[in-house]
This record gives sequence, structure tokens and C-alpha cells, in this order.
Amino acid sequence: MAEIADVIIVGGGLAGLVAAYELTQRGKRVFVLDQEGENSLGGQAFWSLGGLCMVDTPEQRRMRIKDSHALALQDWMGSAQFDREEDYWPRIWAENYLDFASGEMRSYLYDLGMRWFPVVGWAERGGAFADGHGNSVPRFHVTWGTGEGIIEPFVLRAQEAARKGLLTFKFRHQVSKLIIKNGAVTGVKGEVLESSTVKRGEQSSRNIIGDFEFHAQSVIVSSGGIGGNLELVKKNWPTKRLGKAPKNMIAGVPHHVDGRMIGIAKKAGANAINEDRMWHYTEGVKNFDPIWPSHGIRILPGPSSMWFDAEGSRMPAPCMPGFDTLGTLKHILSTGYDYSWFVLTQKIIEKEFALSGSEQNPDLTSKKWIEVITSKNLGFHPSILRFLKEEFSPPFKN
Ligand SMILES: Cc1cc2nc3c(=O)[nH]c(=O)nc-3n(C[C@H](O)[C@H](O)[C@H](O)COP(=O)(O)OP(=O)(O)OC[C@H]3O[C@@H](n4cnc5c(N)ncnc54)[C@H](O)[C@@H]3O)c2cc1C
Repeated sequence: MAEIADVIIVGGGLAGLVAAYELTQRGKRVFVLDQEGENSLGGQAFWSLGGLCMVDTPEQRRMRIKDSHALALQDWMGSAQFDREEDYWPRIWAENYLDFASGEMRSYLYDLGMRWFPVVGWAERGGAFADGHGNSVPRFHVTWGTGEGIIEPFVLRAQEAARKGLLTFKFRHQVSKLIIKNGAVTGVKGEVLESSTVKRGEQSSRNIIGDFEFHAQSVIVSSGGIGGNLELVKKNWPTKRLGKAPKNMIAGVPHHVDGRMIGIAKKAGANAINEDRMWHYTEGVKNFDPIWPSHGIRILPGPSSMWFDAEGSRMPAPCMPGFDTLGTLKHILSTGYDYSWFVLTQKIIEKEFALSGSEQNPDLTSKKWIEVITSKNLGFHPSILRFLKEEFSPPFKN
């Protein structure tokens, strides 16, 4: 006899954990299934810098940044350039997200225990046109504790719900089918994978030791994107919009971000939209100490570096570091090469460079002010210093 829940959640990343929190708050009994082991709970968000897009916050006001719902909506519409019939829901989602981000989001997260670094970052500035791409003002609120600080409140609450018997974790459960009865999804089927001893983020085995079938009134698929599956990225690549896909790619996300569940949901009749709309960072470098296959990390650059394409021509505006990543990607690819050159001085690296991700920012991830202040006094950010030493072992000061 198959086990039954009120709601099955496929994927124990941040999206799955937030859904589980909201449901268990309402007394629903949920199963959270994940193909990875328990030490991967929280998914990609663990590795993130924990930068949240929030609007008109005390952190922004303290820095005298004037932001508003109307400005954020104009920026979003300018960036998204919604122009397809299937953009109906993305548009509604954008409007609702901004209602939340300029409304209760901060207090909702604050009450759960989250805090933010007081300096708000300016991600993706765009081309400075009012109705064009990009953020007109800084909105990137880095969570205290970075990725770990983002997932912790939800992991703790999921564990608490599990103790109360409202939530059941099913780790190493890989969903391969959505069960349909009378036109509705009523459950999931899949394989139990052998237990794994790999560390968080490392590629785990897909050896099968059994199978399962669970039923529920509702099934939520929160299985993440496709960035860990470079073949799928290439298959969905928007050649017309960006040019031919680069031969060499690195992956900013772990191997479990395999996109497999999207195909399974489509087979069950789900309407996957905008599969060719994807996000890539051009300021990526190979991780000198990789955790997952082809592990790439993103440089978070300030605007002072000079940026040249492979042929040595200066990038045209707004292709500047941190301004318009897809526009820059299109320009780089138009040269026929899949790389570019950052030219800068040691002073610029000291002042402006950081690397994205929780493991690259141990000071902010530690939640200890003393670590943040000490790392500032080093000149180089600790992760940059390590990167330079490992990659170039050059005569860098410090
Ligand atoms: C280094 C890094 C930095 C980032 N920085 C930021 C940032 O500053 N700000 C920001 O907003 N975003 C950032 N992001 C992106 C953000 O972290 C992700 O978009 C977000 O965490 C995705 O959450 P998710 O729950 O949708 O997916 P995931 O975290 O990918 O979780 C999906 C889960 O589903 C499981 N799963 C998949 N298929 C199956 C299946 N068939 N059966 C069972 N389980 C399955 C996977 O194992 C995984 O655990 C960053 C990401 C990375 C990696």
C-alpha cells in the first residue's frame, strides 16, 4: 500500500523548504523528497551569496537610496521585455513578487531570524535607460551568514515539523514519474538511490536500490533549474538571440541541478514555458578547488576593470563588469570566441573584487563582525587572495 500525504514536494531546495514551511504552518502533512542525501538539504541556496532583491528597505534608506515599488516594476518590465503570450504568468509573478518585496518580505524574513549586511549591493545595473534593462538603484541585500543564513530558518522549521510528525523527509528518493488519475496529478513514482557518503555539493551516485510510490492531494515540483546539465543548457540555447552556444562552459551550480524533473513534468502534461530564456554570468572563472563537475565561480567585479573581447577590442557600453550580463555574452559570442579579457591593477582587485558564493566568503558566512572587519583590513578579500595564490602563485603582496 503506497504511503499518503496531503502534499508531496519534489525537491528539498529553498523553494521546497519554503513551501513545506507554509504548508506545515497550516497543519498539512507533507513529504519532502530529494534525490540527494540529508546533507544537501537546502540545495543550491546553501552555496549562494544570499543576495535578496528587496525594495525600499531600511538598509537602502540608511544609504540614501530612493527606491519604490513603481521604480522596481519599471526596472523589471524593462529587463524582462515580456513579449510572448506565455509571459502572462511571469508578468503576474513579477507583480506579486514586487508587492511582497516592497511590502511584508523583510519583516516576514526578519521574524524568521534573517538579518542583512548593511551595505546594499548594486547587481546588474543595465544600460541606464529608464525603460531598458537593469536595476536603477542598488537592491541586492546580502544575507548575514550568506547562503547558510538563507536556508537555516527554513531547515530548522522543517526539522521541527518533522519532529511533530507533520513533515516526512525522503532523502535519496529520485522521482521519475508523476501519477495521473482523472486528469489530475495524484502522486509520484521513482527509485530509491543507494545511500551516499559524498560531501554536500559533490556528485553523488545514481545507483538504484529500490523503488517507491507515494500519493497525495497535491504535488509541488520544486526541482530547480538546468544549470548543472550543460548538455541541456546547450539544447535550449537561444542561438537567435545570443549567438552560437560557447564550446566551453563552466557550471555555477551543483550536479543535482540536472533539469531532469522538468522533462518528467512535461511528459505528465505540464506546460514548461520560456525554456530558452536563461541567465549566464560572463565574469566566471574556473574554481581552483572544485566541489562539483566543471565548477565555476563568478567574480563580483566593480566597474573599474577594463574589459576587452577576445580580439582585444574594448567592450561597448553597457558591457561593463556587473552591468548587463546577457548583452555582454551576446557581444563576446559575436566575436566567434568564448572568452574575454579583464585588465586591471592590483589596487582595483583589492578594492573591488569579490567572488560569489558562501564558501568564497567565509567572513560574511561566519556571521562574525570581527571576521568581516579583519578581512577588510587584509586589502585583498581572503577568497581573492587564495584564488590568486592558487591560480597564479605570483608576486602578489600580502
Ligand atoms: C554560487 C551561487 C550563488 C547564488 N547567488 C544567489 C544570490 O545571491 N541571490 C539569488 O537570488 N540567487 C542566487 N543563486 C541562485 C539561487 O540560489 C537558486 O536560484 C535557488 O537556490 C534555487 O532553489 P530551488 O529550490 O528552486 O532549486 P534547488 O536548490 O536546485 O533545489 C532543487 C532540489 O530538487 C532536487 N531534485 C531535482 N530533481 C529531482 C527529482 N527528480 N527527484 C527528487 N529530487 C529532485 C535536487 O536534488 C535539489 O535538491 C545562487 C546560486 C549559486 C549556486
